[in-house]
Amino acid sequence: MEKLMARISREGDIHSGGVLKVDSFINHQIDPALMYDCAAELLDRFKDRNFNKILTIESSGIVPAVLAGYIAGLPVVFAKKTKPISMGKAYSTTIHSFTRDNDYEVMISEEFLTADDRVLFIDDFLAYGNAALGMIDICRQAGASIEGMGFLIEKKFQNGRYAIGKSDASVKVESLAIIESHLGF
Ligand code: 5GP
Repeated sequence: MEKLMARISREGDIHSGGVLKVDSFINHQIDPALMYDCAAELLDRFKDRNFNKILTIESSGIVPAVLAGYIAGLPVVFAKKTKPISMGKAYSTTIHSFTRDNDYEVMISEEFLTADDRVLFIDDFLAYGNAALGMIDICRQAGASIEGMGFLIEKKFQNGRYAIGKSDASVKVESLAIIESHLGF
């Protein structure tokens, strides 16, 4: 998606360890018009898939996921990183964050993900694929199917797409901006 690529080239900042900082339009300050266009483009790429729910992980995936849900008229569920005391039974999994270099648990209430759900997962970044694999695990626990996984930015050199394919070859993966290599920054 040209508009997003242009913005990354203009404002993106590369940090050590292959981390791309896009705080001026995605991760801290948010450009709603750009995020809306990204959400619409992701939906267009998955128009051949029959999903009834959009899933993401807090916090940066929520903006594009909510906009996609708004456009498509579908509910959006985000995996939570802390369990509120009010939460009943929940599916949970552990994800490794390479940007923070730690493991964290995410959970989704059994109330909001069931075997009737066909999910489109949306997130800001695809790096090594750990967050995506965590969501595949949670969907498996719930008996929900994954129709697709859509990302704003994919860092191809970290091979997340390969990790997803190894875990579930039937998942369609789409990314709006693909960074080919470290030099691509
Ligand atoms: P993965 O689980 O695919 O290794 O990494 C994806 C998650 O880590 C995303 O949810 C995103 O929040 C974060 N992430 C991965 N790479 C980057 C990056 O280069 N920049 C930023 N801002 N976040 C990243």
